[in-house]
Amino acid sequence: MEIAPEHQPFIIAIDGPAGSGKTTTAKALAKELGFIYVDTGAMYRAVALFAQRRKVLFTDHDAICALLPDVDIRLERKDGEQHTLLNGKDVETHIRTQEMSRAASDISAIPCVREAMVDLQRRAAREAHGAVLEGRDIGTVVFPDSPCKIFLVADAPTRARRRKLQLEEKGISADYDTILREIEERDRNDAGREHSPLRKATDAIEVETTNTSIDEQVSMILSLVQRRIDQFRKGHTE
Ligand code: C5P
Repeated sequence: MEIAPEHQPFIIAIDGPAGSGKTTTAKALAKELGFIYVDTGAMYRAVALFAQRRKVLFTDHDAICALLPDVDIRLERKDGEQHTLLNGKDVETHIRTQEMSRAASDISAIPCVREAMVDLQRRAAREAHGAVLEGRDIGTVVFPDSPCKIFLVADAPTRARRRKLQLEEKGISADYDTILREIEERDRNDAGREHSPLRKATDAIEVETTNTSIDEQVSMILSLVQRRIDQFRKGHTE
């Protein structure tokens, strides 16, 4: 049976490159709207960590696909923060390293991994009345019918500075030049891959954040999203 649009979860898709402010924006929107928050990058990171622990090369596509039946990924909230569980164990700190950023970018180009993660993401979002998903392909592949798509952009040096601060806040020391190189490499990887490359959906609203503070960014996007929700609800009650 088809579910009427007004009874389907309201999906907000936030896409953009590394360091563009997706996480802060998506978390703030979810909190403000009472929606669930789904960090899809965490799922790719968890698969990469599993492959590393099994000593499988990130370039060995067949071996990575063969691992997937043994991978159980869950996102849980604890003390207001999201925690990623891999086969029941909290791996949140393990998946946030620079090494796992690179590895996630490599394994996310593998079609079987994408299929499994997209399926997981759709199931997670559909359990809620509203969800904010952040990633690279939410508006183009995971929820192409989302009525509210935001594509965040910022120049690479700005994103590298933000990422360095984020890591330092977690007590991880980081070198700016290394982060900048890594971000540029991931941009190339994510935008250049054959399957679900990072790109703006034609109906996404592009928000350039290079010169805005994170607070300005969040409040601007929140009012934009609120307008979309009002339009959507009005459209279904008229
Ligand atoms: O968002 P985050 O930096 O945690 O993502 C890690 C990597 O996972 C990205 O560089 C990208 O290659 C991949 N990813 C993806 N599709 C998503 C989310 C993340 O390919 N929806």
